[in-house]
Amino acid sequence: VKRVYAFGKDAEGNNVTEGNTSMKAILGGKGANLAEMANIGLPVPPGFTITCQTCMEYASAGNAWPEGALDTIQAYREDLERRMGKRIGDADDPLLVSVRSGAPMSMPGMMDTVLNLGLNDQSINGLIKQTDNPRFAWDSYRRFIQMFSNVVMGLDGDLFENAITAMKNVRGAASDTDLTSEDLQELVAEFKQIFSENVSAEAHPSLVVDGIVQFPQDPMVQLRLAIEAVFGSWNNPRATLYRKQNKIADDLGTAVNVQSMVFGNKGDTSATGVAFTRNPANGEKEFYGDYLVNAQGEDVVAGIRNTSPIAELKHVEGLEEAGRELEEVFVTLENHFRDMCDIEFTIEQGKLWMLQTRVGKRTAAAALHIAIEMEKEGLISKEEAVMRVDPEQLDQLLHPQFDKNADYDVIAKGLNASPGAAVGEAVFSAADAVACAEAGRKCVLVRWETNPDDLAGMIAAEGILTSHGGKTSHAAVIARGMGAPCVCGVEALKIDAERKQAVVAGTGIVIREGDMISIDGTTGTVVLGAVELVLPEMTGDLDTILEWADEFRTLGVRANADNPEDAQLSRNFGAEGIGLCRTEHMFLGDRKRIIQTFILNEDEVVRERAVGELLEAQTGDFLGMFRAMDGLPVIVRLLDPPLHEFLESPRALDVEIARLEATGGDKEEIARKRLLMEQIDGMSEANPMLGLRGCRLGIVYPILPTMQVRAIATACAQLKKEGLDPKPEIMIPLVSVTAELEKLRRVAEDVIAQVASEEGVELDIPVGTMIELPRAAVTADEIATQADFFSFGTNDLTQTTFGFSRDDVEAEFVPQYLAERLLPFNPFATIDPGVAKLVKMGVELGHKGNPDLVCGVCGEHGGDPDSVRTFHQIGLDYVSCSPYRVPLARLAAGQAAL
Ligand code: ADP
Ligand code: MG
Ligand code: MG
Repeated sequence: VKRVYAFGKDAEGNNVTEGNTSMKAILGGKGANLAEMANIGLPVPPGFTITCQTCMEYASAGNAWPEGALDTIQAYREDLERRMGKRIGDADDPLLVSVRSGAPMSMPGMMDTVLNLGLNDQSINGLIKQTDNPRFAWDSYRRFIQMFSNVVMGLDGDLFENAITAMKNVRGAASDTDLTSEDLQELVAEFKQIFSENVSAEAHPSLVVDGIVQFPQDPMVQLRLAIEAVFGSWNNPRATLYRKQNKIADDLGTAVNVQSMVFGNKGDTSATGVAFTRNPANGEKEFYGDYLVNAQGEDVVAGIRNTSPIAELKHVEGLEEAGRELEEVFVTLENHFRDMCDIEFTIEQGKLWMLQTRVGKRTAAAALHIAIEMEKEGLISKEEAVMRVDPEQLDQLLHPQFDKNADYDVIAKGLNASPGAAVGEAVFSAADAVACAEAGRKCVLVRWETNPDDLAGMIAAEGILTSHGGKTSHAAVIARGMGAPCVCGVEALKIDAERKQAVVAGTGIVIREGDMISIDGTTGTVVLGAVELVLPEMTGDLDTILEWADEFRTLGVRANADNPEDAQLSRNFGAEGIGLCRTEHMFLGDRKRIIQTFILNEDEVVRERAVGELLEAQTGDFLGMFRAMDGLPVIVRLLDPPLHEFLESPRALDVEIARLEATGGDKEEIARKRLLMEQIDGMSEANPMLGLRGCRLGIVYPILPTMQVRAIATACAQLKKEGLDPKPEIMIPLVSVTAELEKLRRVAEDVIAQVASEEGVELDIPVGTMIELPRAAVTADEIATQADFFSFGTNDLTQTTFGFSRDDVEAEFVPQYLAERLLPFNPFATIDPGVAKLVKMGVELGHKGNPDLVCGVCGEHGGDPDSVRTFHQIGLDYVSCSPYRVPLARLAAGQAAL
């Protein structure tokens, strides 16, 4: 097996790169694209990449090197030394390298990188000699010890930061740059001391010299330990969490890139920066990014110093040339990758070096805009444009925004780093954000700047607010990736994380933990108090992409809605009908009393009166629904849940009786409540979800379906008379044997015929069934003889196929199953292959029984892109999902057809 691949040029200037961009699974994203950039002639500092497979082999052998791997690495290291004409650790002219992680999928900032490797007490002299800049050299050495100790040895970075602060205090220095070369040299000695005191001799016996742990002087030892640490970082907790969050497999491993160092910190003609070839927030075609003069590595993203916008670069003295070249590189990259790219670069004494590129992360709005613009520019096809937008991401666009009519005071402004608005309690640490979310409250995470350790808190928070860092800072990048609103770089915000409060400079306003705040990541606005949020209109770009998706898709998209507002909303989003109108929600509120009267009274007269009231109310409901969906099908499901859901809980009644008794309450009332409790108790079922519900209710209480069908038919007749075109369909839930459907179908047809003759209009109302029990799926040929349509209720079908009670298992063991990978994903979110098999069988058998059968899905899965693909392949006619998922389902269905 080939374990190491070279990239960049040799000593004669020939390209000796062995990899390319298609080899991400082997070289990781960073390594593959460093190779690609070298191949297309961009300036890349030479180096080599150790494969991801080597990482996995090393990890699965319990952190032991595969045979021969270290020899190969040594050969490539020697080759790199020849190519560079320098040797690592050389006392005269040393080669320094970075050791960089890089997984197949981009995991920004999740794993580790070590810079300036190869410095020791000898090579420092060579660096001083070559650069004639002792201050730079000592600063590089102290950075290296600090990074090595932190990343490779796991020491707390504060140990070193505190030493720097102490030194500054002693010297009366305001900032790091005020420290002299001698100061830095002294710091290096101190850092080595800190290393010796804090690294465990037991854990690292090979570092013990003369009885004490020493900072390793041998560059080969430094290199091996750094590579091992990068391998190890694949399994650090934050990387593991990130993978879980982003559905990235655990067995990919990370590659390691060993690359010759270039220096952005060699004075005023040196710089380092990050950039995007287009605006990743809104997709505009512009150069977007930040740089810092005389800085190294992560200084830009760490938000330590305030950065300058990339567009200014070519106007800065000494950087003009590199700035112009960079703009050419943007164009080269876009034409080559045919997509928006992000890049990391360093300018060393006026010379531009490319350190990284990849297809850039972007917001949903930017994804839409870029896809459409690139299609117009002829860079990509319409099909590609549709494929470029992640359906899940569309959710962001349908995110709430500040209500324009709301009254609020802006207390501060920052950068609009990730769009959407968020309202919640201010919290000042990731842990507090997690605690707040777990307690069921919404929060906004307020930080000086975030770092990868804050990830759990960022996920838990509604939005993120930082006082530092630019639009490419950690907070901004991660928030955009998650679709969370983010305002960053709010300089007026003086945060005291310890005391859990922040002051808005110049205003005297204090934000304390628990205070409600609102942020708008679209505009960069910060507000004290909770602002009213509203949903945005569909943007032009979204419309365009969805129309393109509609051109390709063959799967219909309907919505699940049970009131006219939701129906209208889904229609605006492009729903082609209602796939599921639940009627149980129509029995809540004021009407709960009526249905309770029906359930609890044996007296036929009282019952009939209650049903009469319900009939009137339901007719009104359906009038509203059918009117909103005029001309489009509306599938109404007859009452489905167990009746006790409409009754009071016996436990609450018990408590109330006890209270009445203790306070000497009215005897008669107590007796009445007792009776009620006994009645309710008598109706209780051990497994209500498998009990008296669905079509079984209609068989036991035929008066219920009779009433509901009458309401549907009456509303339909009335609208027809008004000249509208209502298209209701009646759906019978939870059928397991054909006879159930046959019986209830007859009830429905009789009532429809009655209403038609009473009203004097022709009514053609199809009757179908839900397929949500395995027995129904496997006998679908027979059931279909009684059905005009099937709708697969994949929520219940998943419950009944697995024997999982959804309400219980999702909290109890499914999380553990997912963590241990006993299940690859939650089957209630994405359709399970076993359940999909039943759906497929149901569709095929169903068409045998009734060739005209229309088949759809109305479970939660109808709005899940992966499931939509499966349903497309099965050949369903449509999916039905919640109104907000309709745009997403349209896009996913379009993609499934491509
Ligand atoms: P990440 O994956 O977290 O972005 P990188 O491996 O890209 O980590 O390293 C972070 C930063 O370190 C880079 O953006 C770059 O500024 C700096 N860096 C890495 N390698 C080199 C190098 N060979 N020369 C100069 N700077 C480097
Ligand atoms: Mg990077
Ligand atoms: Mg169901």
